[in-house]
Amino acid sequence: MNNFLQNFAREHVWHPYDSLESPIPVLDAVRTAGARITLGDGRELIDGVSSWWSVCHGHGNPIIISEMEKQLRSMSHVMFAGIIHEPAAELARKLSEITPPGLSDVFYADSGSVAVEIALKMAVQYQSVRNPSRKRFLALRGGYHGDTLGAMSVTDPGSGFSSPYTGYAPEQFFISRPGIKFGEKWEPGVSDELRDTLERYQDEIAGFILEPVMQGAGGMYFYHPEYLKAARKLTAEYDVILICDEIATGFGRLGELFASNFAGISPDIMTLGKGLTGGMISLSAVMTGRKIREGIGYSSARVMMHGPTFMANPLALSAALGSLRALGSYDWQARVHHIGDLLRRELCDLAASPLVQEVRVLGAVGVVEMKRQVDTVVMQRFLTDEGVWLRPFGNIIYIYPPFVISDEDLLKCSGSVRKLIAGMERGEIAGFRA
Ligand SMILES: *Cc1c(COP(=O)(O)O)cnc(C)c1O
Repeated sequence: MNNFLQNFAREHVWHPYDSLESPIPVLDAVRTAGARITLGDGRELIDGVSSWWSVCHGHGNPIIISEMEKQLRSMSHVMFAGIIHEPAAELARKLSEITPPGLSDVFYADSGSVAVEIALKMAVQYQSVRNPSRKRFLALRGGYHGDTLGAMSVTDPGSGFSSPYTGYAPEQFFISRPGIKFGEKWEPGVSDELRDTLERYQDEIAGFILEPVMQGAGGMYFYHPEYLKAARKLTAEYDVILICDEIATGFGRLGELFASNFAGISPDIMTLGKGLTGGMISLSAVMTGRKIREGIGYSSARVMMHGPTFMANPLALSAALGSLRALGSYDWQARVHHIGDLLRRELCDLAASPLVQEVRVLGAVGVVEMKRQVDTVVMQRFLTDEGVWLRPFGNIIYIYPPFVISDEDLLKCSGSVRKLIAGMERGEIAGFRA
């Protein structure tokens, strides 16, 4: 990009969670391929965060591209009210086949946050027939569900995502995240707070939303899948809609196709996004079953009052169909386990560092939790000089690579994290926030 445009962008283009008054530095990307991002100055970076957790089969995956090219030539878009098309039917069939039993129906939307909005609206509408006083939600502390109004309201209020908007977003109920981590020994008492809260506020709680097994943006926390079984049982008992937000965990990231599978549960609603199109284009899906279909059918409106302009956009759906084909074209599970093994081997001894709180790996996610909040800008500058694109946040440094990454590139990511922490230990890198 020429200097004029770069300057114009710096002055006028918003970036995620940033300011226009004092924006953080940005890099000029011109091309992506596989696990690599090429910059305007010719440098190549390894995309160790799968471009915010979406590009699971690598950038520019040829199977996805060929599906999209075919679709683009025949029909890029057509409205969805009063019209059906093969990509919508075919993807619905495939999604209902691979998601947990009972999730037979699909509502297509544009992005993860919008999928969460739809899920919340569905739960309220379901309850409008069954338990009309229930219009609020229960969520876990440490959770993240998106940035639109409803999604933000069920995101941990302590996380900062919603703090500038207090008083605008509805107030919800929050309980502690499950205290037993993945791989630890389960104790049934952990779900007591959930039971007590449901018992106490049953006249108000329409639904319970959670990220199964991995809380992502809230700190890459892995908890015991047994909690999901308790959540399934208790929500059924109190006729509360269980929403599993699998926008980050869906499509194999943790080693199971969906994180709900670790517990063998079927939620009433499941939200999908991010990896749904292999990171090619924005698309989300809300999976539902009989309960929601009947609830909405018997509600006074009788219909679901939601209909995005670009609902079921054929081009986006073709990307999702391509991504599912890509998923079936190699042994993704073996890849995920292999990545996890390498990350474990390369990161685990960092736990001995005086700067590190904990190291944890699950599926193709490697997390180094630091003892203090990190300086994202300082860390990113060091890592990009190393040729690696990672995005530490809070007190978390993590690696979340495309499944197709080479061992060499993955080792480069973990090696750079090791170098970063070693540099901090020697006092050469001011990686913690002042
Ligand atoms: C990213 C994410 C969302 C929001 O998705 P967008 O496409 O960014 O709107 C919602 N829930 C979870 C668990 C996510 O990780």
